[in-house]
Amino acid sequence: MCDNVVVPPHPVPPHPGSTGLHVPAGAFAIRTTDSSGLGAFASHNIKKGECILSESPLVQWTLQASEKTTAGLVSLVNALPQGAYEEYCSLCQNPMHGSGPKSLYGIWLSNAYPCTSPMQALRDRQSGMEEEEIERTKAVFASACRFNHSCSPNAHASWNAQRGQQVIYALCDIARGAEIGVSYLENACNMRRAQRHEQLGFTCKCAACDVSGLQLAQSDQRRGRTGAIFAMLEPIIRAADKRAVALVSERLDLMKLESMREEWNTLFCAASYFALAGDARQASRWAAQAADSARHGLGSDSDEFQHYAACAARWHARCPMMRG
Ligand SMILES: [Zn+2]
Repeated sequence: MCDNVVVPPHPVPPHPGSTGLHVPAGAFAIRTTDSSGLGAFASHNIKKGECILSESPLVQWTLQASEKTTAGLVSLVNALPQGAYEEYCSLCQNPMHGSGPKSLYGIWLSNAYPCTSPMQALRDRQSGMEEEEIERTKAVFASACRFNHSCSPNAHASWNAQRGQQVIYALCDIARGAEIGVSYLENACNMRRAQRHEQLGFTCKCAACDVSGLQLAQSDQRRGRTGAIFAMLEPIIRAADKRAVALVSERLDLMKLESMREEWNTLFCAASYFALAGDARQASRWAAQAADSARHGLGSDSDEFQHYAACAARWHARCPMMRG
């Protein structure tokens, strides 16, 4: 039955500047960690799907291809009010962006998040946009940039285009006092530990990295396999090849073993396959699951949730039994 279509559980939050946005106050506190400088810790027991933070940028800047200079960034930072300027300058600089004294650009390179949703980045790629054009506008945030990286994150950070803010949602229940970690890497679940550390430019000390011997070999093997499946999926789906379903299921199983909870893309791969294969019922069912996952990780006003929920509804309407 097509009875699994997602309906947003609550109205889409108002746009900031209208009646204001409800973000629970004080979900986290910034304090010193044992090993990674400052970090964000849960101030109370946080539920899966809870919005932990929704924050406007301190500085938002677009590096123009023709510009080749950071003068624009420097003038934006210098124009900040004193408190905001100090917040910016207090952020860390990753040694891969300069081991000497901190620079405004070094801080930018170490902290800026893209102001593009992953779905928009995908659309840009599919429309043939050059890689260097995609995710060119980035932003630095006073609080969001304090959350440390984890390779098995319990929260997800993303740009919310409707709000014009960076949002962080809990991917699972987080106990009071636990550190809240987000992934700085788009596809940490596809990378072995050494690859992750190379991309990060530092040695991550998260629970997923704090393993050795057989455990490390197994984790590396699982993440290598999820990466291989990820690379295989697109052409297989395009060909409406039924192997897509087994590959999606295998990837979801491997992600669970790695405590990787950002499942929406993978779930939607199965929905896309069934849509192309002409099975509207299964397409709707998988799209509804993708929407549910995206609602928890990205919010109900995210591009992803709205797209998946709309697909689930559209395919649901095509189910033969429902039309009958
Ligand atoms: Zn790690």
